[in-house]
Amino acid sequence: MTAPATLPPDSTPAAIDVDRLRAVTITWEDGHVSRFDLPALRLACPCAGCMAEWSAGREPRLAAPLSIVDVRLAGAWGMTPTWVDGHDTGIYSWAYLRAGCECADCAAADCTAVDCPAGD
Ligand SMILES: [Zn+2]
Ligand SMILES: [Zn+2]
Repeated sequence: MTAPATLPPDSTPAAIDVDRLRAVTITWEDGHVSRFDLPALRLACPCAGCMAEWSAGREPRLAAPLSIVDVRLAGAWGMTPTWVDGHDTGIYSWAYLRAGCECADCAAADCTAVDCPAGD
C-alpha cells in the first residue's frame, strides 16, 4: 500500500490482525507491534458522540460481550471498526493508534503515562 507523504513513517501499518472477540493487532512498517484490547479500543473511540459523552463526564457504554463485526479502512489514513452494538462512527487514524500504543516499550518511552514507573 502507498501511504500519503504526510504520514510519519512509523504510523503506517504493514499488517492489521482483527480478532473480533479480543483485540486488534497492528504491525507497523518499522516492525513495531501494537495490540489494542477491544474495551480499550472502544473507549478510545474518537467520534463526536463518544467525545460528547466523555466531556459530559460519562463513559461510552460498552456492549457486553464486546466484539467487532467489521473493520473498514478509512482511505489510507485510518480504520473504522463496526462494533457489535452498531456503533461505527469512530475513525481511528493510524497516527492516533500508534500514539495510543500501550506496549511496554511505548510506556517506558512516554513518562507522561499515568502508570509509568519512571514518571513523576
Ligand atoms: Zn464513538
Ligand atoms: Zn508500542
